[in-house]
Amino acid sequence: MNAPAIVWFRRDLRLSDNPALTHAADFSIIPLFIWDENDPHTPGGASQWWLYNSLISLQKSLKEKGLNLILRRGNPLKIIQEIVASHNVSTVFWNRCYEPYIITRDQEIKETLSRSIKCHSFNASLLAEPWTLKTRSDSPYQVFNPFFKALQALESFSPLLPIPPLKGYKGSILSDCLEDWGIYPQPDWSQGLSQEWAPGEEGAHKNLTSFLSQALPGYSVYRNFPDERSTSKLSPYLHWGEISPRQVWHSVLNTCLGEPSQNEWSFLKEIAWREFAYYLLYHFPELPTKSLRRQFDQFPWIKDKEYLQKWQKGMTGYPIVDAGMRELWKTGWMHNRVRMITASFLVKHLLISWQEGAAWFYDTLVDADIANNALNWQWVAGCGVDSAPYFRIFNPVLQGQKFDPQGKYVRKWVPEIQLLPDQYIHNPWEAPTGALKSAGVELGKSHPFPIVDHKKARARALEAFATAQSF
Ligand SMILES: Cc1cc2nc3c(=O)[nH]c(=O)nc-3n(C[C@H](O)[C@H](O)[C@H](O)COP(=O)(O)OP(=O)(O)OC[C@H]3O[C@@H](n4cnc5c(N)ncnc54)[C@H](O)[C@@H]3O)c2cc1C
Repeated sequence: MNAPAIVWFRRDLRLSDNPALTHAADFSIIPLFIWDENDPHTPGGASQWWLYNSLISLQKSLKEKGLNLILRRGNPLKIIQEIVASHNVSTVFWNRCYEPYIITRDQEIKETLSRSIKCHSFNASLLAEPWTLKTRSDSPYQVFNPFFKALQALESFSPLLPIPPLKGYKGSILSDCLEDWGIYPQPDWSQGLSQEWAPGEEGAHKNLTSFLSQALPGYSVYRNFPDERSTSKLSPYLHWGEISPRQVWHSVLNTCLGEPSQNEWSFLKEIAWREFAYYLLYHFPELPTKSLRRQFDQFPWIKDKEYLQKWQKGMTGYPIVDAGMRELWKTGWMHNRVRMITASFLVKHLLISWQEGAAWFYDTLVDADIANNALNWQWVAGCGVDSAPYFRIFNPVLQGQKFDPQGKYVRKWVPEIQLLPDQYIHNPWEAPTGALKSAGVELGKSHPFPIVDHKKARARALEAFATAQSF
């Protein structure tokens, strides 16, 4: 075909199993990525660092196939219209996203462009699109288990797409310089991130392969232990679409020859939680900002900048909470069990709103994701659908003792107490003076006292949450 086509990359930064790219393979292709300045959910610093590196990786993979990735910053419709007009483009291909702002924006773009050229969009980031699954009464699922059953009943998700032979468009098109977008940290604080991560499609597959052979066999037992390499760490790759959930799902099934055992099911269930998050976001677009259980609109959240900052900096005095918050700050990631403990501590021990916690996570996580973040914060706060009950208030000491019994995780991230014996590693304030002294710990100086007393905070939270139930 003579007229070129645009493949508009968005959160599908990969070449394999990419329906938009596959469908464009008959055209000479203009690969395009746009940094949309109006997106209300601009990624935070850690996620921007990820995007920067992921785009470099995509640029390289495309180059190897003879394609030049065009980078542009601004209004997507205007940018596409300008390229369409000046290069006689006949067709635009993209893969769909499901955030409310993007849905509205893309509908407008499709409607406008379709007046003069062809536009085709596809599903590349979900196992099943949100409108394909409904309860018998034709309403959206609000409970995870029946949703998961319905998802499984779809049985096989369409076959994976190999990288097609590609032809690059030879005309010259203006492209921004990635450095000029200002998304790379200045001054550069990203050393902790680059030690931990290799963004891009290749990194995603390496991660998956090592997870399948090393951690999947013990996943259902060890996934709750934060010091183990027990989970896949695929979340940022899935967020930016450097790997598709179908690729992950198929690889797991291949590994167990189509017969998942407890470990495989337990992992596939987590992939399905991601689906559920997107499903809920689609059907309840207010998910990121409003409690789905409306009685929480009246909840007496406390605005406390000082305590919020202590939580953000990992200075609450509760070692497992502080370890999680410091891991997040340093590496842009936190283990799921610890996300639950730290989030519960913020909303229940400090009575600070889940939205404030979600905003901090969104700003600092490499896997910051509107749907997953909001679903999980609402789950922890007990204000979403199918959430943890409000009276479940984690005791951070017991959680630490259960899931980090020898304190390995805490010792790594809260090194000032690393010499304490196991018995006090999660509750240094209960250690005898001699034990503190020989471990070089000075409470209130080298390590903070707990900022709230667990028993009192628990009683206060139960009272506040019980009141919310009665609104
Ligand atoms: C308060 C809070 C905030 C969170 N914010 C985010 C976020 O912004 N982005 C994000 O991707 N995840 C978020 N999660 C979910 C979860 O913690 C991460 O997806 C997981 O820790 C990523 O690590 P992994 O890839 O090793 O997970 P694995 O255990 O290997 O799971 C595989 C994949 O399943 C999905 N998944 C796992 N757990 C969940 C879950 N509880 N909800 C939805 N999907 C899940 C992820 O895509 C993950 O990569 C949040 C959880 C909590 C409690």
